[in-house]
Amino acid sequence: MTVEIICVGTEILLGNIVNTNAAYLAEKLAGIGVSCYRQIAIGDNEERLEDAIKTSLSRSDGLILCGGLGPTKDDITKEVAAKVFGEKLILNEHTKDRIRCYFLTLRGPDVTPNNWKQAMVPEHGKVIDNHNGTAPGILFEKDGKFAFLLPGPPNELKPMFERDVEPYLRSLSPEGLYSSMLKVLSVGESRAESMIEDLIAAQRNPTIAPYAKTGEVHLRVTAKAKSSEEASALMEPVLEELRARFGSNIYTEDENVTLEESIIALLKEKKMTLATAESCTGGLLSGRIINASGASDVFAEGFITYSNEAKMNTLQVRQETIEKYGAVSEETAREMAIGAANAAGTDVALSVTGIAGPNGGTEEKPVGLTYIGCCVAGTVVVKEFHFSGDRRKNRDYAVVKALTLLREEVLKESV
Ligand code: ATP
Ligand code: MG
Repeated sequence: MTVEIICVGTEILLGNIVNTNAAYLAEKLAGIGVSCYRQIAIGDNEERLEDAIKTSLSRSDGLILCGGLGPTKDDITKEVAAKVFGEKLILNEHTKDRIRCYFLTLRGPDVTPNNWKQAMVPEHGKVIDNHNGTAPGILFEKDGKFAFLLPGPPNELKPMFERDVEPYLRSLSPEGLYSSMLKVLSVGESRAESMIEDLIAAQRNPTIAPYAKTGEVHLRVTAKAKSSEEASALMEPVLEELRARFGSNIYTEDENVTLEESIIALLKEKKMTLATAESCTGGLLSGRIINASGASDVFAEGFITYSNEAKMNTLQVRQETIEKYGAVSEETAREMAIGAANAAGTDVALSVTGIAGPNGGTEEKPVGLTYIGCCVAGTVVVKEFHFSGDRRKNRDYAVVKALTLLREEVLKESV
């Protein structure tokens, strides 16, 4: 089955918004085995949109359109699609009620007349309820072809795709793609690949695809099957083999769980609390930890100690240490970690001190040199890293490596 994606909005053409919906939809379609040969971005122009819909429909089995379902005059997607499908728009009472309720519960009773435009739906189309906004999604079907119209805001589009579009697409193809994901830490991309070379060479169904992420490797196992049960049966032996090879370096088997969420869960399980002491990451590490809901159960305090004085005053790093070894040194990282654990009274503390660049490097201490310390119950381990990205990349890597070190040390502790 082939599907084309059409993203509607002059904002996209002007570069005012990044077309993340296209990336999201493309990845989802690939994940369920639907071929997408073209993505189109088009402005809020009736003629050009009509032309795009007609052309795309003529060469594919279906379309996914996003954007332009709102209440304003420039939101024309539904009207133009209805024209192409030869449909009349009629008022849908159910949607009208839903919009009324949405305004009452979330925004107060300020429905403006143009909001009822969103309750107009094609006479023979299907309405897809929007649980996160007012514009409903629409499904047009005609002559064996279909078009989904989804709202532009990603927080409305994504749940709709997952709840309504994905099952529809799966029902159209007898065999779908099902996948599982293992997320791996502490093993570099090339080593991870070489560890599964033989499996990849021999694979048929399921397949294994490694993806390199910042400081992580994700292994996606994909099976072609008629049902999720059949897919699980095909995937399980392969997943078992990967578990045997990567062991505790797999931090989650849940695609939706992030590294920071898994770290919070681990600390919670071990009943440990955490503090951070950051120099070059300047809050990125604590920010990443706080991304995870539930962080408050374990995360006590983050210190951003950028200057030498801050390191000495807040974390009790000794002046001699900084003078003798420098602020970017194993010794300073060690004292920062101990100082943070003491100051915050936590079981675990992470410290990061490095030269993020582009300036500030020397021959002895080049840009990218970073020390990361992890103090667990009074014992500190410090690791040295040499990152080779730009300033932002080096800081991102430092954050992931700090979380990786924390995980390694906490797991060691409990053996
Ligand atoms: P609204 O009811 O908010 O007007 P809509 O369905 O009419 O929704 P648009 O007006 O096209 O959608 O876009 C609304 C907002 O949704 C944009 O300002 C942008 O933040 C986001 N958005 C739209 N299209 C995309 C896209 N392709 N990728 C990412 N975000 C998008
Ligand atoms: Mg709009």
